[in-house]
Amino acid sequence: MKSRDFFYVRPGSLQQALQALASHGSAAQLLAGGQSLVPALNLRLAAPEVLVDLQDCAELRGIKVSGQSLRIGALTTHAQIQSSPEVVQHVPLLARAVPYVAHTAIRNRGTIGGSLSLADPAAEYPAVALATGAVIIVQGPAKERRIAAADFFKGLYTTDLQPGEILTAVEFPIATADDRSGFYELARRRGDYAMVGLAAQVSVAQGKVAAARLAYFAVADRPILAKTAAASLVGQPIGDPACLSAASHALAADLDPMPDLQAQSQTKSYLAGVVLKRVVQQLGVTS
Ligand SMILES: Cc1cc2nc3c(=O)[nH]c(=O)nc-3n(C[C@H](O)[C@H](O)[C@H](O)COP(=O)(O)OP(=O)(O)OC[C@H]3O[C@@H](n4cnc5c(N)ncnc54)[C@H](O)[C@@H]3O)c2cc1C
Repeated sequence: MKSRDFFYVRPGSLQQALQALASHGSAAQLLAGGQSLVPALNLRLAAPEVLVDLQDCAELRGIKVSGQSLRIGALTTHAQIQSSPEVVQHVPLLARAVPYVAHTAIRNRGTIGGSLSLADPAAEYPAVALATGAVIIVQGPAKERRIAAADFFKGLYTTDLQPGEILTAVEFPIATADDRSGFYELARRRGDYAMVGLAAQVSVAQGKVAAARLAYFAVADRPILAKTAAASLVGQPIGDPACLSAASHALAADLDPMPDLQAQSQTKSYLAGVVLKRVVQQLGVTS
């Protein structure tokens, strides 16, 4: 099957892209890496009249330190994130997660802005954004908005992006020496979307967990924080297997996994405990 016919425009700047969106309204759709949108076009799950290709919007590229954050432009590819020393140094949780995003060919073209905008509930980046407390930056025709990751993901493939807005960048807080990160997912095959995954960020004081954020993905219509399980880790020695039992039991209060094509709810509940165990083990190792 092939896509419906569409007009293709390739603006040379963010301003021109915003103008293209404004003039075509709901008939237009943005194209970034095309790794999700092009298959959707070919399957006729999406049929925009106009594709607005962001590739020439230089403002959307690049990885740089900005104050206490690492700012990553929306058009930055998964491969660029994977090879970035700044990401390894400043956002180790993202560095841990990116190898799990799809396969090499898709990582060469797929972008962080595309992934966050798509908001697939089984995608890695939305959970990393939630666990780290990232801020997502969007530009509309009149103003820029900065949206906390916790407020950005609204539901299944649904975000806070409004018509006419473009996601321009995401800012991840720079990890401190007291932060530890852990990431694990279970998928049927390496590179597939996860059956269940967990992105975790904890801060440590005097060898004990001072604060923890456990962001699960592929268990609900969006990434969610397991707050009860995270609270049970606070005050415990970092990476102590003994704290696992309490945290695993606490998961029942946090998660009521949504079944999908990959697994039933009970299977996902069980796997949520498995990934928690592996992540707690990672947290014991200096990140
Ligand atoms: C076989 C396969 C396996 C995959 N496995 C995984 C996986 O394991 N984990 C994972 O996370 N992803 C996976 N993906 C998806 C991949 O990561 C995509 O790159 C990503 O989801 C979308 O990024 P993109 O740049 O390709 O966006 P596109 O496909 O170009 O666009 C996706 C959507 O986002 C919108 N959009 C894009 N950029 C912006 C922007 N800047 N502002 C506003 N809206 C925008 C588009 O209009 C479109 O609706 C997989 C894809 C394939 C084909």
